[in-house]
Amino acid sequence: MSFTLHGIPVSRGIAIGRAYLIAPAALDVDHYLIEPDQIGAEIARFHAAQEAVHAELDALREDLAADAPSEMGAFINVHSMILNDAMLVQETIDLVRTRRYNVEWALTEQLQILSRHFDDIEDEYLRERKADIEQVVERVLKALAGAPSTASLVVHNAASNGHNEMIVVAHDIAPADMLQFKTQAFKGFVTDLGGRTSHTAIVARSLGIPASVGVQQASALIRQNDLIIVDGDHGIVIVDPAPIVLEEYSYRQSEKVLEQRKLQRLKFSPTQTLDGTKIELCANIELPDDAQTAVEAGAMGVGLFRTEFLFMNHKNRLPEEEEQFEAYKRAIELMNGRPVTIRTIDVGADKPLDSMGGDGYETAPNPALGLRAIRWSLSEPQMFMTQLRAILRASAFGPTKILIPMLAHAQEIDQTLDLIQEAKRQLDDAGIAYDPNVQVGAMIEIPAAAIAVRLFLKRLDFLSIGTNDLIQYTLAIDRADNAVAHLYDPLHPAVLNLIAFTLREAKRAGVPVSICGEMAGDPTATRLLLGLGLTEFSMHPSQLLVVKQEILRSNLKAFEKPVADVLAAYEPAELATALAQLQKA
Ligand code: PEP
Ligand code: MG
Repeated sequence: MSFTLHGIPVSRGIAIGRAYLIAPAALDVDHYLIEPDQIGAEIARFHAAQEAVHAELDALREDLAADAPSEMGAFINVHSMILNDAMLVQETIDLVRTRRYNVEWALTEQLQILSRHFDDIEDEYLRERKADIEQVVERVLKALAGAPSTASLVVHNAASNGHNEMIVVAHDIAPADMLQFKTQAFKGFVTDLGGRTSHTAIVARSLGIPASVGVQQASALIRQNDLIIVDGDHGIVIVDPAPIVLEEYSYRQSEKVLEQRKLQRLKFSPTQTLDGTKIELCANIELPDDAQTAVEAGAMGVGLFRTEFLFMNHKNRLPEEEEQFEAYKRAIELMNGRPVTIRTIDVGADKPLDSMGGDGYETAPNPALGLRAIRWSLSEPQMFMTQLRAILRASAFGPTKILIPMLAHAQEIDQTLDLIQEAKRQLDDAGIAYDPNVQVGAMIEIPAAAIAVRLFLKRLDFLSIGTNDLIQYTLAIDRADNAVAHLYDPLHPAVLNLIAFTLREAKRAGVPVSICGEMAGDPTATRLLLGLGLTEFSMHPSQLLVVKQEILRSNLKAFEKPVADVLAAYEPAELATALAQLQKA
């Protein structure tokens, strides 16, 4: 049966393919295909795990106190029976054999199939036995986790004919997990949770593949292998589409490919408005190799290197200085003389680090307002100094700037600048080269920083407005929470006036300022930002050409009046009129 789900569009384009469900957190397991010669070993792992759980259940039974209720024993017996049941065991093995799923994937897949049967049972008692099966499967998965597979990770290379490409459907995807998808051949993403500028959405966008988030219940309603269409322009997911709908979307998909090809022609033309104002377009990157994509898209530099992604997936340690140095140097070398703005680690909120847990982080009452970004770095001076030294050392290999996230207080700026001086002294003492004139800038992403921007202009070489957080903190809207996503409004008068004020003050002080939040890569905001006086944009490489196209069509003189009207408009209707005028100007 065909049905449509609605969510938040976060990455443009259309994907058509088969749903690839990622199990909810409790049963969150790796999904990969094994080689044919690994099937025997994979099945042996399953049997070994089955044996281990049998032994666990036997031990539980033996340890039962004499006065324990008799149901307890019966309950353990039921679990032992489930553990031997052909519907669970044989079918799981069949999935390993026929589809070459790793055993964890096969087991969770079979659990979902059984769960669906149980959901259809009328008898309430029997229906509730589903929970027993889930508990048994969880035990087996835990046993399997103790004996990890030696099978190599084989990317699922779905055939590109027909509609066999894979679209990930999940309740939620952590930014770190999303990063791992960079190397895999998925064609789209759908999640139940998330907001437009959640870091998961940002990484999805950087992959340049269509995604919709906040599609409530998607992971419950969509079944493994269902044919789905993800319309990343409108946040729509169509499940089991009718042939005519499929045809329409296939057509739209090919149109988009054509559009993209046409945009490529703009790659080498200079970026300037019709009246001759030169605009600088830079790229946001998450990993050093993304710099290559940035160059290919025609970026003039890297305006934001989100280094925290280097720190993720490092279970119990942070990368050493040498490892970081190599990563920064690689990005700098790939940019081949174009400047690279390296932001110091911005963890916390929706980007927790594995190694943050022990510091009371997980129990922080409100992580977005807690020890995030520079606050965390200043509380971990050793870690911070390691990063600063690594960045400074890399600066010897090409133009580099240091960008500090989430500053608000004068003493934080001063403390940070002191630590940078200290890192330089240490390198001097060790006779290690670095660029002594490396520029230091601040993200303006807290309303206090925008309002008190003079504190920043006096102390720093450049500014970069992080609209994602500026909007979040101005409107008190968690950017990752789909329940309030409808209130996350880049065009709220308070947000626009904060941006305008920052740009104006920076210009007056002669301090360069860019915008590196998602707004910079949104072509519908380009005219407005140009009209507010922005001349440096930093965005995902995938957005660069479409924004450039908008810039090439813009005449700044004509924007003056409508932009003044936008800033003066507080009533939604007035604002809408002024914005419409601007689009026509
Ligand atoms: C921002 O807040 O706008 C920004 C660019 O930083 P991040 O999205 O990494 O928080
Ligand atoms: Mg930010």
